[in-house]
Amino acid sequence: MTQISHAIIGAGLAGLACANRLQAAGQSVDVFEKARGTGGRLSSRRRLNTTFDLGCQQLNASTPEFSQALQLWQKQGWVASHDQQTFYGLPRMSGLTRQLSSQLTLHLSTRIISLHKKVSGWWLEDEQGQQFGPYQQVTLATPVAQALPLIANHSAGLNQQLAPAEHSPCWVAYFVLPKKLAVARSDETNNVHSSYLRGWTLLNSKPAQQENVQRWVVEASAEWSKKHQDLNSQQVAQKLFALWCNDAALTIPEQPLLLEAHRWLYAFTEKSLGVAYLQDLAEGLNICGDYCLANHLNSHLGYQAEAAWLSGDKLGQQLTKVMQ
Ligand SMILES: Cc1cc2nc3c(=O)[nH]c(=O)nc-3n(C[C@H](O)[C@H](O)[C@H](O)COP(=O)(O)OP(=O)(O)OC[C@H]3O[C@@H](n4cnc5c(N)ncnc54)[C@H](O)[C@@H]3O)c2cc1C
Repeated sequence: MTQISHAIIGAGLAGLACANRLQAAGQSVDVFEKARGTGGRLSSRRRLNTTFDLGCQQLNASTPEFSQALQLWQKQGWVASHDQQTFYGLPRMSGLTRQLSSQLTLHLSTRIISLHKKVSGWWLEDEQGQQFGPYQQVTLATPVAQALPLIANHSAGLNQQLAPAEHSPCWVAYFVLPKKLAVARSDETNNVHSSYLRGWTLLNSKPAQQENVQRWVVEASAEWSKKHQDLNSQQVAQKLFALWCNDAALTIPEQPLLLEAHRWLYAFTEKSLGVAYLQDLAEGLNICGDYCLANHLNSHLGYQAEAAWLSGDKLGQQLTKVMQ
């Protein structure tokens, strides 16, 4: 098999799935990620000597492919489950992507701002003006709004095909309560789906997460997040905390030890494409990510990570086939 050089932009679940397929087939792969760590919307944040899963809370499978991947990761100790239906990254969600990227060549803290096609192949340029290349294939594994500016001048076909896709925002509040509240098991994870809250999770209820304080994450609904998109994070944190106290019918004895908020501009796929991935074969440009398949795969929002993984994995398989 001829060795092809690949650049993958985005080290979320889709980009890592694609990269691992290609690397396993003997291809040369460089992964570029603007954040300091891998994971994208599976990332976690460290605060007060503990961590919070700020994006994806759990992994569920509706396809045999993702179900097999989860079983394998469980055997390797990368995920755990209470019931073999719902899986959690160990020791946190980003732990899974650390494992999935451990054998890959990663360029972290590297935001790619433009692509250049030269005779030698594709060159990528980052914010500092550094150039990386040449690559024969470039894959964009980012939310659609972050992929469009990179391909705008290079592929009219992909631009047109990507146009219908859309993500919605999500504000997330995360807090630490000093004392253990008595919470019914059914209230530890609650997908309320009200007009203002999407749900909440007691992080301590996940496998291997016992401790004296309680760590909570509350997700606002898309509607509420859009309405409050430009509010500052401290105001949002206070508002979401109050809404959660109200919805969970809890009287909090003391102020939280920590109360912060994070805004995901591109959180959930609102409109997806209904295809596993997209390619511009003439240009050597490829697209994968949750928004390709999500909603078509399973209408439940809890399966978007599966859509991301499947999209990247299927694209990786296709790119490998073409090279044989
Ligand atoms: C609050 C929240 C809760 C969620 N809960 C669940 C859940 O419980 N279950 C579930 O299945 N799904 C859930 N999801 C959805 C799930 O997290 C996503 O569908 C999935 O992680 C998307 O993976 P991805 O690889 O397609 O994209 P991402 O994870 O967004 O990865 C894209 C990566 O590209 C990087 N990037 C972007 N632009 C550039 C650039 N120019 N240069 C370099 N790097 C770049 C980004 O930093 C990011 O790391 C949730 C999402 C959020 C936000």
